[in-house]
Amino acid sequence: MEHTGILLHACCAPCSSASLEQLLETGYSPTVYFANSNIFPYEEFLKRESYTRELCSSWNIPFISEPWNHAQWLDAVEHRSNDPEGSRRCLLCFTYNLGLAAVKTKSMLLHQFTTTLALSPHKSFPQLMQAGSAYASFIPVDFKKKGGFQRSIELSRKYALYRQRYCGCEYSFKASSSS
Ligand code: SF4
Repeated sequence: MEHTGILLHACCAPCSSASLEQLLETGYSPTVYFANSNIFPYEEFLKRESYTRELCSSWNIPFISEPWNHAQWLDAVEHRSNDPEGSRRCLLCFTYNLGLAAVKTKSMLLHQFTTTLALSPHKSFPQLMQAGSAYASFIPVDFKKKGGFQRSIELSRKYALYRQRYCGCEYSFKASSSS
């Protein structure tokens, strides 16, 4: 079977696990791209990055990490800091990260990319599609289908992956601490 290259923007190890499984089963040859300057604090970024890197290493998947630039990410979303999760702030956040993925896809001479963010039932798929549609190389893959989220829980147990309790940014951290 000929394998098709694809860049997989990855938010964390659990979402990467089931998304990678689906891509590999359908004949893709993915490269994982960890670009998540939204994650706060930096120690949390390092923790999620480390688990994702380890998973890729054990599955022989190429892994690339984008340096953490939280200040630049804040420039893109800070004016919507009071918005709740799932609002326009998240659309801006998706657009920021997927924009980096589009640039990386082009620089690697790949033709397409997608994102593990689509695996989470906590993320709006239409919002992700709206953010992704700004980039010609984005392909929509709804990893939630075929029980993707449940499979990520199984794989997280199997590989002892770290599963975070909040989405990523300081705003979502505060909201999860107060609920
Ligand atoms: S809640 Fe999640 S998706 Fe929304 S802005 Fe924060 S990190 Fe991004």
